[in-house]
Amino acid sequence: MSDGPDTIAALASGAGRAGVAVIRVSGPAVPAIARALLGRLPSPRRAVVAAFAGADGRALDRGVALYFPAPASFTGEHVLELQGHGSPVLVDRLLARLLELGARLAEPGEFSRRAFLNDKLSLDQAEAIADAIDAGSSAAASAAMRSLEGVFAREIEALRSALIELRVYTEAAIDFPDEDDVDFLGDGEIAGRLADIRRRLAALIDRAREGARLREGLRLVILGAPNVGKSSLLNRLARRDTAIVTEIAGTTRDVLHEQLAIDGLPLTLVDTAGLRETDDPIEAEGVRRARAELAQADRVLLVVDDSRGPGPDDHCLLEEIGDRCPVSVIANKIDLSGAAAGETRLAGREAVRLSATTGAGLDALAAHLRRAAGLAGDSEPDFVARRRHLEALARADAALDRGHDRLVVDAAGELLAEELRVAQAALGEITGAFTSEDLLGAIFSSFCIGK
Ligand code: GDP
Ligand code: ZN
Repeated sequence: MSDGPDTIAALASGAGRAGVAVIRVSGPAVPAIARALLGRLPSPRRAVVAAFAGADGRALDRGVALYFPAPASFTGEHVLELQGHGSPVLVDRLLARLLELGARLAEPGEFSRRAFLNDKLSLDQAEAIADAIDAGSSAAASAAMRSLEGVFAREIEALRSALIELRVYTEAAIDFPDEDDVDFLGDGEIAGRLADIRRRLAALIDRAREGARLREGLRLVILGAPNVGKSSLLNRLARRDTAIVTEIAGTTRDVLHEQLAIDGLPLTLVDTAGLRETDDPIEAEGVRRARAELAQADRVLLVVDDSRGPGPDDHCLLEEIGDRCPVSVIANKIDLSGAAAGETRLAGREAVRLSATTGAGLDALAAHLRRAAGLAGDSEPDFVARRRHLEALARADAALDRGHDRLVVDAAGELLAEELRVAQAALGEITGAFTSEDLLGAIFSSFCIGK
């Protein structure tokens, strides 16, 4: 046995019954497996229709086979793609046959990991594949595609090269201090370049934040007195009947989560029992959960009945929320109050007047939430970003901040050079130019099998 990579196989299309199932095989044993399974090695990149032969020579299934020789394949290895019938039983039998022929089952993300290790993808591009597959809205899907095209990776790499150049320049200034009576550290060249890099990094952080918001969206908790129309609003937004809408006060006892997207912005809406004090043990548990939800929320939608306006309970709620979480007051039932739909202010907070029953004012709510998410304007974020990316960008930013002080306050070139190195390494983690084995494991194991 060679000590190179082995050959892996997995179902690449969704599990369950479907018209077609795609099984992907990657590794050095692919040509031998193809000959045994198909009776021949198909011409590269040409779809052939063939029987997939079992050990006894009888057909397990019939379908399309595609052979991509290394290195021109997704993983950079020899790859065989088998498109068979989408029955779980047939898929299992075909996978079993591939294992018999020397493949092993792929671990989650293992195909993408091999593509990354063979320089087919940068790390953020590999993540973009997962994001494109998981995308909850069409805006998120197109941003994931732009990430996959390398938009984010190119910007990060450009910044990283600027950092490397500045570090080399700074180290040269340290090695040749006061050459010809020129003060390299103090002549403003290094400070100017550093300021420029910090400006570019700050702009990239803003765009990455938007990209992360697009991927993750807003988590909204719906609060309000009984019967103001919380469940009706949720149903109207979700256009489904997941929450129980009744005229008995206090029916929504448990916490309900609803995932949806409005105008391309993913939302997690959480309908709660509210925060009111109660002796009913079941309701008390609901209140405890509502408080826990509040801690994780990006924003509270406090629903009030516009024909009555915010009541004493609502003011208590606002007091309890304090500035722990931004609040939008939703003044519902304008079909009863007769007020005009749209954005306004109530109880000192941003507010939207609408009717869950007629749907009036829902456009204003969508615009309001997009603005709350920092997605104002018509421009879509041009790439998706993850928490991991934001965290690495923040570390780079902090290092440059310290570096600036080392230069300006301490005039210590060596210490600046060290901070530049830290910033450079942090940016390198995003694209995978500088990545530990642990981080790779954590990223790729969160992928689905077959990616
Ligand atoms: P919750 O207890 O806050 O969840 O309130 P529900 O969603 O269960 O609604 C309570 C009652 O108010 C139901 O009879 C709804 O049909 C009614 N309701 C909800 N929204 C509106 C609205 O915009 N206009 C009118 N006229 N009735 C509404
Ligand atoms: Zn309700």
